[in-house]
Amino acid sequence: MKFFMTTTVPKEQKGPIIKRILVRCPSTAKLTPTGKTIEESLWAAAKVKNHKLTCPHCLQVHTWTKKDVVLAR
Ligand SMILES: [Zn+2]
Repeated sequence: MKFFMTTTVPKEQKGPIIKRILVRCPSTAKLTPTGKTIEESLWAAAKVKNHKLTCPHCLQVHTWTKKDVVLAR
């Protein structure tokens, strides 16, 4: 007899707060969405390597790291 585990995620009263990761364009000083998101509670401990982003404002490629990030809802 087979027994299948249910894979439902336990529900919490408060869901995780998901933040969008933005970086500021060094050329135009505009905030640029990276297309990445992170759970706010994980951000403090998150290790972020260098990422590259093609900027929609100045059309250049920016390299960004954790210190460049602005979290937005
Ligand atoms: Zn830019």
